[in-house]
Amino acid sequence: MSRIVILGAAESGVGAAILAQKEGFEVFVSDMGRIKPEYKAQLDARGITWEEGRHTEALILNADEAIKSPGIPETAPMVAALRRKGVPVISEIEFAGRYTDARMICITGSNGKTTTTSLIYHLCRTAGLDVGLAGNIGHSLALQVAETPHENYVIELSSFQLDDMFDFRANVAVLLNITPDHLDRYDYKMQNYVDAKMRILRNQTAADTFIYWADDDHIGRELAKYDTASRILPFADVPGRGVAAYADGADFVLEQPAPFRMPCAELSLRGKHNLRNELAAAMAAKAIGLPDDVLRQGLSSFPGVEHRLERVATVGGVTYVNDSKATNVDACYYALEAMTTPVVLILGGKDKGNDYNEIRPLVEQKCRALVYLGVDNKKLHDFFDGIGLPVADTHSMADCVAACRRLAHEGDTVLLSPCCASFDLFRNMEDRGCQFKSLVHGMETSYSQHMQP
Ligand code: ADP
Repeated sequence: MSRIVILGAAESGVGAAILAQKEGFEVFVSDMGRIKPEYKAQLDARGITWEEGRHTEALILNADEAIKSPGIPETAPMVAALRRKGVPVISEIEFAGRYTDARMICITGSNGKTTTTSLIYHLCRTAGLDVGLAGNIGHSLALQVAETPHENYVIELSSFQLDDMFDFRANVAVLLNITPDHLDRYDYKMQNYVDAKMRILRNQTAADTFIYWADDDHIGRELAKYDTASRILPFADVPGRGVAAYADGADFVLEQPAPFRMPCAELSLRGKHNLRNELAAAMAAKAIGLPDDVLRQGLSSFPGVEHRLERVATVGGVTYVNDSKATNVDACYYALEAMTTPVVLILGGKDKGNDYNEIRPLVEQKCRALVYLGVDNKKLHDFFDGIGLPVADTHSMADCVAACRRLAHEGDTVLLSPCCASFDLFRNMEDRGCQFKSLVHGMETSYSQHMQP
């Protein structure tokens, strides 16, 4: 019997273990950290052996194949040891792809993956398709293939997942954009990160579709290096240059893979970046043959995704927007661009080597005030204070929201779009967004009680 070893026992690792066992492999799961109780319970219920807090070489290096969690870097000693022994290391998606013939709709990019993936899933559901949501969101692909198989999957793929994919084939591939991110995992070489993203094209045939943003700095140029048979469909903000779809002011237009048109005003999401996500999603939906009425209904009813330009509440005439997911400068740029009122902008957290020059003009043009929220706000003071806006220095969400309330005028928007990771003060970006929302809702409650006659 072949032996499969799985490194990392979270959603993808546990899913892979369950599928591997079902397919008749001898399975062992090893995690350097603590395994969450719910995952231990899933493994124990199926009699799958595991260890935590260590990697025991003797139980790992005898694998015929290893499946690695996307969170574990290539430089991890056990990955290096597996490589030295010549044990193939693959991703959970690669593994799961071997055991299904379902149609695979895959989305990658530096920004916009979750929004676009969720929207394509919403369109498929609106059409009544049998569809699963997988990758970075929802349950792992492997678990679904093992226990609740679907005819279609919509899969969000990070560059880390793509790194360990070899024979997997995306029937529809969407590449939204490539901007610098995660370079610490790519030897600080942008080209390595670009190459990882382009792997989404691998194994595509003439029956498959590749959708990409034509105005990206890298994708078009990179594409010329690949000899791919897939149907290639670029989209852009404006028509021309052979683009297959565009959203030109009033109209949202697809020419390929099939003609479709609707007014932009009827789309549910706001912001130029979301128009691009919506174009990509609509093209993917058309590539699998969804009808016009489904697109129209789905694109206008999509509720958006939590922590992405999420409108929280309007309190005392000030609208609060949670964009906690904006953990890089590019994401904040698009959030600011989408704002139509003066903004009190919350910035800060764990800086990943940010260059704030990209957002400086928008800050000057749109912001009423800046609220810094982090353990160490020095870099923000150094860069932004010179603009001359009112600034507040805060180190907790409670102080931050209080400062926003003080600085915002009626009609303004308070925007949490911090450009930084959250780990200095919060468990993760969800925790940061939820703390923000709960304080805003608390304010809303006390405001409405105060206003009662
Ligand atoms: P991802 O899953 O790739 O991180 P999300 O859909 O979660 O992407 O969006 C993350 C952030 O990126 C959002 O807060 C938004 O401001 C920004 N964003 C979303 N779509 C795009 C896009 N197409 N181009 C640039 N930025 C985007």
